[in-house]
Amino acid sequence: LDSPELKEEEGGSLVFEGPFEELRFEGVTFAYPGSDRPALDGVDLTVRRGEKVVIVGPSGSGKTTLVNLVPRFHDPDSGRILLNGRDLRDYTLGSLRMMLGMVSQEAFLFNLPVCENIAYARERFDQDEVERAAQAAYAHDFVAALPEGYLTPAGERGARMSGGQRQRLTIARAIFKDPPLLILDEATSALDTESERI
Ligand code: ADP
Ligand code: MG
Repeated sequence: LDSPELKEEEGGSLVFEGPFEELRFEGVTFAYPGSDRPALDGVDLTVRRGEKVVIVGPSGSGKTTLVNLVPRFHDPDSGRILLNGRDLRDYTLGSLRMMLGMVSQEAFLFNLPVCENIAYARERFDQDEVERAAQAAYAHDFVAALPEGYLTPAGERGARMSGGQRQRLTIARAIFKDPPLLILDEATSALDTESERI
């Protein structure tokens, strides 16, 4: 964290207050530093409130890169991304990320009790809400069977859970947050076919 190579993330001063209306990519091009080929080349995409959009493509075609631009893990080299008509860079990072829920291919858990991993979006929560989210993510049964149930620590980076269990907990986390915009990046890649179907 002290490395001078890490640049501080910068956001604007506009606070996103919702409601979410539209996310629009306009001619978005992005290449990873040191790469001679852009991962995204002139992408146009509009997602409106209430829509479900599925992005399909082979491995390496840029799906993860595309969704990672929304929380601004990277910024476009050219083109722009607009949220409700304003450039993402105008918004504070905090308010931008607060309106998003993301379930990534890599499920990240903290070494905290399972209930706090699920309720990560809020400081105060009811056990009932946590259990409802876990049920919706098909995680309740395995959590209830853990030695300390919802109070069982997940282990460093979730080391005490299987890959599929970790992923179900991060899906429960996203359901609990109930964000205006939910991004699932191969969110069932670590699940067995039965859990995936459910
Ligand atoms: P997908 O999610 O569709 O499998 P990605 O968005 O992960 O595709 O990758 C798109 C392209 O960008 C690939 O060619 C990949 O090798 C490259 N890439 C992905 N992440 C990085 C990174 N952190 N640094 C450099 N190149 C990357
Ligand atoms: Mg991917």
